Amino acid sequence: MTVSCQHSRSSGKHGIHVVGGGLTGYAAALALADHGYSVRLYHRDEESADPLRTTTINPVAYGFLKSLGVMDAAAGDTPLAETLAPIDRILVTDDIPREKPLDTVINWDKPETGPLAWVVRNHDLTMALHALVEASPLIECIAARITDYHPQHPDYGHAAASLITDQGETIPAGLILAADGRNSALRQAASLRVITRNLHQTAIVAILSLDAPHQNMAWQKFLPGGPMALMPMPEPQLASLVWSMKTEDAAQLMEVDDDRFAMALDDASGKVFGGLRLASPKQAFPIIPQHAVWPVATRLALLGDAGHAINPLAGQGYNLALGDIMTLRDVLNTAGDTGGDIGGATVLKTYARRRWPEVVMMTMATDGLNMLFSFGKRRRRLAGMGMAVANLPPIKALAEKLASGRMFNRG
Ligand SMILES: Cc1cc2nc3c(=O)[nH]c(=O)nc-3n(C[C@H](O)[C@H](O)[C@H](O)COP(=O)(O)OP(=O)(O)OC[C@H]3O[C@@H](n4cnc5c(N)ncnc54)[C@H](O)[C@@H]3O)c2cc1C
Repeated sequence: MTVSCQHSRSSGKHGIHVVGGGLTGYAAALALADHGYSVRLYHRDEESADPLRTTTINPVAYGFLKSLGVMDAAAGDTPLAETLAPIDRILVTDDIPREKPLDTVINWDKPETGPLAWVVRNHDLTMALHALVEASPLIECIAARITDYHPQHPDYGHAAASLITDQGETIPAGLILAADGRNSALRQAASLRVITRNLHQTAIVAILSLDAPHQNMAWQKFLPGGPMALMPMPEPQLASLVWSMKTEDAAQLMEVDDDRFAMALDDASGKVFGGLRLASPKQAFPIIPQHAVWPVATRLALLGDAGHAINPLAGQGYNLALGDIMTLRDVLNTAGDTGGDIGGATVLKTYARRRWPEVVMMTMATDGLNMLFSFGKRRRRLAGMGMAVANLPPIKALAEKLASGRMFNRG
C-alpha cells in the first residue's frame, strides 16, 4: 500500500520534523507526504498499539483518512474499512427512572448520506497508518526520543530550530510538528502554557459482551459521577465501554472481580442491551482535560493531544487532531505556493488562528456537558431541561454539525 503522492513540494532547507508515533503523528506525516512533502517522523522505540481502546471517527475525519488511503490499508488480514462499526443511531439518556432502558431523552438517526460515525479499534487504525507510513518513500522513520527544543540552531541561527534527541544529537529543523501527546515534552520546552481542569474523574475502558445485539447504536447515559458510553463494535454483541466517574469510585471498581463489575454495569445501565459483561481486562484513564493557550512557538506547532486533550465524553479528541492536520496542510500549501517560509511565524500564526474556534468550541462543549450533567441533583435537573432544549431541531442540527466535523467548512 503506498501513499498517493502529488507533485513533490519543498519541505524547506531544514525540513519538516514530526515528533510522536501516535495516531496524530502518523496521520500528520501521511497527510504531508500525500501532498508531496518529505517528512522525518520521530517515534519511541517501544511504541505499541492500544489493544483495548476504540476511537469514534466522524464523517469528515473518515473522508480525510479515506483520501489518504488509510481505509484501504491493511489492518492485519483485512482492509481497515472492513474492521469498522458504523453508528446508525445515537441514544442519550440520564438517570431519571424510565420505563425501558432504551427510552431516550435525545437521539440522532443516521442521515441519508450514511452513518453518523464509525468506531475503530485503536490497534487496527495504528496498524493501517503504520503500513502506509512504512511504505511511503517520503517519510523517514527515526526511533528516537526527543528530549529538548530550542528556537534557534547553533549553526543556522534563526533559519532553523533545534531538536535534541536522547542520543544528544542536535538536529536543525525548519518546522517541528509536536504530536507527542498530552504530556508533550516539546510543548514544555517551548514554554507554551496549558490550562488544565481536573475534576477528579477517571474513565474505565473495556470491551463488553452484550446479551442482545447493539444494532449499530451508540448509547450514552449521564450518571451522577459522569457519563457511561457504549459504542458498537463490528461484532454485533460487543461494545466498547467508556465509563467516567469520580476517581475514588473508579479506584474501587477497578478492584472488584468480573461478576461484581457486571452487576455494577447492569445497575448503572439499567440492563441496557439485556445485560453487560466484561469481554476484556479493564483499564483506567484519569480525565484531566487541558488545552494550550497558544499552540505555536518559533518553528513549532502543536498537533493533537499535545495541544488539546478534551473530555472523552463526546468521542471527539482524535477528530479534533485530524482537524489540526487538515488545517496545517492547507496553510503549508498556501505558503509553499507563494514561496513563503513554511516554518515561519506568518504560517504558524495563521494555523493557530484558524484552529482556535473549533478547539475552543469543542473544549467548551465537552467541559460544559460534563459539568452540567455530572455531580449533584440540582445540576442534573438543570441538565434535564438542557436536554429538552438540546432536542429542539435547530439546536440538534447545530450539535450534529459540530460533532460531524462539518461546522468549520471541512467536508
Ligand atoms: C478513554 C478515552 C477515549 C477516547 N475516545 C475517543 C473517541 O472515541 N474518538 C476520538 O476522536 N478521540 C477519543 N479519545 C481521544 C484520542 O484517543 C486522542 O485524542 C488521541 O489518541 C491522541 O493521539 P496523539 O497521537 O495526539 O497522542 P498520543 O496517543 O498520546 O501519542 C503521542 C505519541 O508521542 C510519543 N512521544 C511522546 N513523547 C515523545 C518524545 N519526547 N519523543 C518522541 N516521541 C514521543 C508517544 O510515545 C506516543 O506515541 C479518547 C481518549 C480517551 C482517554
